[in-house]
Amino acid sequence: MRRVQVGIVGAGPAGLLLAHLLRQAGVDGVVLEAKSRQYLETSPHRIRAGVLEWGTKEIALKAGVGDRMLHEGLEHRGIYIALNGRLHRIDFATLVGQGIWVYGQQYLVRDMINHHLQAGGEILFEHEVVDLKQLEQNPILIYRGPGGEEGELLCEFVVGADGSHSRFREWIPGLRIYQKTYPFAWLGILAETPPAASELIYASHERGFALYSMRSPSLARNYLQVSPEENLETWPEERIWEELNLRLGGVAQLTPGPILEKSLTLMRSLVVEPMQHGRVFLVGDAAHVVPPTGAKGMNLAFCDVAVLYRALLAYYRDRDETLLASYTETARRHIWQAELFSYWMTKLLHTLPDPFEEQIRLANLRHLVESPHVQRFLAENYVGVYTSGRYAVAFPSPPG
Ligand SMILES: Cc1cc2nc3c(=O)[nH]c(=O)nc-3n(C[C@H](O)[C@H](O)[C@H](O)COP(=O)(O)OP(=O)(O)OC[C@H]3O[C@@H](n4cnc5c(N)ncnc54)[C@H](O)[C@@H]3O)c2cc1C
Repeated sequence: MRRVQVGIVGAGPAGLLLAHLLRQAGVDGVVLEAKSRQYLETSPHRIRAGVLEWGTKEIALKAGVGDRMLHEGLEHRGIYIALNGRLHRIDFATLVGQGIWVYGQQYLVRDMINHHLQAGGEILFEHEVVDLKQLEQNPILIYRGPGGEEGELLCEFVVGADGSHSRFREWIPGLRIYQKTYPFAWLGILAETPPAASELIYASHERGFALYSMRSPSLARNYLQVSPEENLETWPEERIWEELNLRLGGVAQLTPGPILEKSLTLMRSLVVEPMQHGRVFLVGDAAHVVPPTGAKGMNLAFCDVAVLYRALLAYYRDRDETLLASYTETARRHIWQAELFSYWMTKLLHTLPDPFEEQIRLANLRHLVESPHVQRFLAENYVGVYTSGRYAVAFPSPPG
């Protein structure tokens, strides 16, 4: 049976970043990924995130995977809230002295795959992990390869970075799952058209929330609040553009263009604890899910990796297991902060079915646009509490 130091399951942002950092530190690792490389890099189902906290951008640069992101990404220094036909700017630069970076997750995944393979790293595409044995000592990953053949990989450590539908939640005994679902979903589109504004617009409208964002100056990523049971067939292109412009309430105008992708995203919050058992650790969406309103998912994945990377380095350099033992305890600080913020943004911006709660929501929203104190809370969390600044998770620079 083949042996490695660290077996990583999943080539999403979490698994790839960890694999690349460990490789630079001389730790022998293998990534097993169920899908093909082409699917990860080009499938419309993998478009997903686009907002990077400032500190996430910095981590990508320090890890040596951010060169293209730096040239092709966009800096945003604030966001807009659209309410009752008026635009209110939340000026991050003035409020907290930092902005955010806009760059598509799928591009970053492509960049990380390139860098990792060029550095001699190993990613086994189309290798689906189907079981896990011996979690306490020398864990074994059982996988199915592209031809259906089964194989086993004996590891010193296993990292579950297999995303929001993680199988590890079945395989790790005694996990506690905290979760919440919301009574709405997002109909998302990627369209070839200039975005409605130079920065993101979060629009509150009586017909439901809408988000206007961009991937580039000619590619817009827009979302509409819809029912979780919504049938996408009932949303032809004209209806989507009409509804988006209606919910903007006249503060900006979208020019309809070809829609390249259309999807429905359900909204839920979920945290798994502990995020470890024996020699097995969870990172990214495998351990927690946030509704996309606060744009936190990929940033959280990077935070987890920063904490676990430091702990694995301490183990491989000094055989010191202290940081590994406290991994969940350290990570839960940034995780629950992001859960809090994502929950707050979600409740603040979506039209709620209960009339009393809806009035409270509108009062909260008015308070936000009038109060610099509440704006500072939003700005601080949006830009990122734990990837940079006073509370930042410690991220050791990779060797070399
Ligand atoms: C519509 C939408 C918008 C979003 N917007 C934002 C945003 O603006 N900002 C933000 O920060 N986050 C956002 N997110 C969240 C972000 O996309 C996720 O948090 C991020 O992908 C998590 O990375 P990950 O590596 O943990 O998991 P994933 O990216 O899901 O990667 C997991 C990988 O594991 C593989 N895998 C699964 N099971 C197995 C198996 N058994 N064997 C082998 N491989 C397996 C999968 O194929 C996948 O490639 C958004 C998400 C969605 C859906």
